[in-house]
Amino acid sequence: MLATKLVDNAYDVALENFDAAADALGLDNDTREMIKYPERVLTVSVPVRMDDGTIKRFQGYRVQHSTARGPAKGGIRFHPQVTLDEVKALATWMTWKCAVVNIPFGGGKGGVTCDPKHMSQHELEHMTRRYTSAILPLIGPQQDIPAPDVYTNPQTMAWIMDTYSMTKGYTIPGVVTGKPISLGGSLGRNEATGRGVFYTIECACEHLGIPLKGATIAVQGFGNAGSVAAQLLHEAGAKVVAVSDSAGAIYNKDGLDIPELIHMKTIAGHVHGFPGSEPIDPAALLAFKCDILVPAALENAVTAENASSVSARIIAEAANGPLTPAADRILESKGAFIIPDILCNAGGVTVSYFEWVQDEQHLFWEAQDVYNRLEKVMKTSFRDVLKIHLDRVVPMRIAANVLGIGRVAEAIHIRGIYP
Ligand code: GLU
Repeated sequence: MLATKLVDNAYDVALENFDAAADALGLDNDTREMIKYPERVLTVSVPVRMDDGTIKRFQGYRVQHSTARGPAKGGIRFHPQVTLDEVKALATWMTWKCAVVNIPFGGGKGGVTCDPKHMSQHELEHMTRRYTSAILPLIGPQQDIPAPDVYTNPQTMAWIMDTYSMTKGYTIPGVVTGKPISLGGSLGRNEATGRGVFYTIECACEHLGIPLKGATIAVQGFGNAGSVAAQLLHEAGAKVVAVSDSAGAIYNKDGLDIPELIHMKTIAGHVHGFPGSEPIDPAALLAFKCDILVPAALENAVTAENASSVSARIIAEAANGPLTPAADRILESKGAFIIPDILCNAGGVTVSYFEWVQDEQHLFWEAQDVYNRLEKVMKTSFRDVLKIHLDRVVPMRIAANVLGIGRVAEAIHIRGIYP
């Protein structure tokens, strides 16, 4: 009997995407060997005294996939499903992502397997600090710069920055990005991922001749990326008709009142029960009849099983790795236009770069300056990827990878091999 593959392993997906783009680029085997795999992988054990007095051990990771173009860069994820393979995949995608938007960073990622929704602030702080101390040999403003990811936030970054600084003996804000503003964070960083998603959707609509005003949108995941993208799309006159989070999904055919929904989510912690909305099956949200689908949750949201039911014309990957390669193929054959994750959600790391630059210079920018620079980076990168898509007649995902991987390969060639 054939074993059924339940979920795609994210790292297998990352390697498969790499191979497809490397083939399109005509990359030689030596270069592939040098840039495909992570440079460093660290597994750490994180003991924490919990509020009830017992000690609980958590498993943590930090992976540096590449430092060819600059310090490793990428978020830290706290989630029950974190595995080493997931962190390796996310680190790999960070490398190509930073290269696509042409910022001088490599790629890295960290994670701790834990359930932050069932931990107190005190437990989270202790886990974050002990994890930071365990990965300390790897991180630093010139080495590897963490940032928020799923279920981590500016407060988490503040604890990392403080732990690192205390160990070194002086304050080093540039060791992390996505910090609170009062500790050297950048204006506009918190909304940057969603804002970047919005800019790429604007570009895709323009390219396809779809008016954004009046376009219908479904958003899977209402965290930092999904909620901000929904807000900006709503402000631009689009109708966000369906939204889900990890606890449920809702819909209103005339469009949900997104500012009110964000307000409720902040207070109640969920979207279900929103006045004026009807509950729907979260799985059905992906198949919702709409112009634009924004998967903004986790990997493997759209797979071979449900891809054929997706009817959206544009799929904007606010999450990392939400589509499996099989889903990609099905959606491509249906004529969907995919804005791949390493382009679509690169606004977060782009403003992380701006934050790092400001920290290094001790000189801070106005919010409008951050937005203008972000818009320029996102729209230029979209045009660069679109050009490869059209010139080479390859899917948008391959086009983005061709651009990113090509830039990393170029850096490796010029640097040569040490010793
Ligand atoms: N976690 C975000 C991402 O996946 C941001 C990373 C960063 O700012 O370094 O792109």
